[in-house]
Amino acid sequence: MLTCPNCKYEYVDGITICPDCNSNLVDPKSLIQPPTLKEKDWKVIFTSDQEYEMQMLKDNLSSADIESIVFSQKDRSLPTPGDLSIISLLVRNENVEDAVNFINEVLKN
Ligand SMILES: [Zn+2]
Repeated sequence: MLTCPNCKYEYVDGITICPDCNSNLVDPKSLIQPPTLKEKDWKVIFTSDQEYEMQMLKDNLSSADIESIVFSQKDRSLPTPGDLSIISLLVRNENVEDAVNFINEVLKN
């Protein structure tokens, strides 16, 4: 089963091009990894190289009912000059403002 990354429709095996928008269909499993799938729906609101800090923020956000994703670039093959282990915290576009305010509050303490 393949999925169109634009229309989000699923198509039966054998179809590899979306009939609606001509996009190459992708395996939905490959879409689970941010930010590939939802690049336009998710925004990076915070970066750090401290994994515990990210986990703490993610926990805090989820306690405020704000869904977030911690995305580590550590194991990417792309070289990132200067920042080899940057961890990004992503939230949905509609939550950016709330999440940023929330994080500012958390980090103040
Ligand atoms: Zn499509």
